[in-house]
Amino acid sequence: SIRAPATKRSTNLTVAVKCRPLTERERGRDIVRVFNDKEVVVLDPDISKDYLDRIQNRTKERRYSFDYAFGPNSTNLDVYQRSIRSTIFGVVQGLNATVFAYGSTGSGKTYTMVGTQDDPGLMVLSLNTIFDLIEKDNTSDDFQVTCSYLEVYNEVIYDLLEKSSGHLELREDPEQGIIVAGLRSIKVNSTVKILELLNLGNSRRKTESTEVNETSSRSHAVLEINVTRKLQKRYPAQVTRGKLALVDLAGSERASETNSAGQKLRDGANINRSLLALANCINALGKQQKKGLAYVPYRNSKLTRILKDGLSGNSQTIMIATISPADNLYHHTVNTLKYADRAK
Ligand code: ADP
Ligand code: MG
Repeated sequence: SIRAPATKRSTNLTVAVKCRPLTERERGRDIVRVFNDKEVVVLDPDISKDYLDRIQNRTKERRYSFDYAFGPNSTNLDVYQRSIRSTIFGVVQGLNATVFAYGSTGSGKTYTMVGTQDDPGLMVLSLNTIFDLIEKDNTSDDFQVTCSYLEVYNEVIYDLLEKSSGHLELREDPEQGIIVAGLRSIKVNSTVKILELLNLGNSRRKTESTEVNETSSRSHAVLEINVTRKLQKRYPAQVTRGKLALVDLAGSERASETNSAGQKLRDGANINRSLLALANCINALGKQQKKGLAYVPYRNSKLTRILKDGLSGNSQTIMIATISPADNLYHHTVNTLKYADRAK
């Protein structure tokens, strides 16, 4: 069961959990393996006396609490409005932020980040707010919004906005910090085409079948949105740059659990390297919050180097841990909740 505390801590790291609904296929399943329920996740406000009676003797019951908890009836808009939206205001003012979806394959990461026409995801909703804020802005400041979309697969970076991208390298630029050399960056001024663009980019992601799931996504996808603002009433003219990274991480299931060899195992090891590096950075950020300065080990993977600006200084970091309520994914769900719990 998951509980959301009444008030959110004022920190730079926010942890939200989102539990998706059962899919048609899961609802149709009649073999129930772990429990006598198809659904094994409960949000505290939903807990009934009946449920508590039923779970009384279950030793596998675990409880966690997070900044936010979203149940199967929550839409992406609900998640966005409660846990992301206020951070986007900062991005337009020149602050950096990172939002990432963490969870096993099939838990709803892509649904949450990209979404559908009817339930647009956090990438689309964030851009909507950015354009909205720019449109309503009553200063005479000039704004420019650009996007890039890349994937990290096997510790190699590819451009998802290019039809057939080669390997891209990271460079340290004295002014811009860490950049991906040759990455396409496009100017955008409305969200109309964004979902199309994201779906096209996603179709280029490296996917490969494993025994865990046929369309197991083994790459990390990063949408970076840059908002440049030229403050007109200042002499000399001043510029602020806000950077928002929205990340659809590779499936968090461990390589050892996917009984596969050769290429696939190497994928697994590298996915773990990036996820482990990210976990270590998130842990360090958590410590930083509680005890003051701590070294954040960004350099250990491509992913954490790319995300560095959005994980340091006064950046906001928001982790959405995605889980399935299905009983057969119980172990993945527990692993994800443990990871999210450690991040706090
Ligand atoms: P992941 O990217 O983590 O592998 P997906 O986002 O592809 O997982 O989600 C797995 C399945 O669950 C998909 O069929 C998706 O449409 C469905 N799904 C996920 N979240 C929701 C939701 N909130 N509402 C309805 N269906 C969802
Ligand atoms: Mg996915």
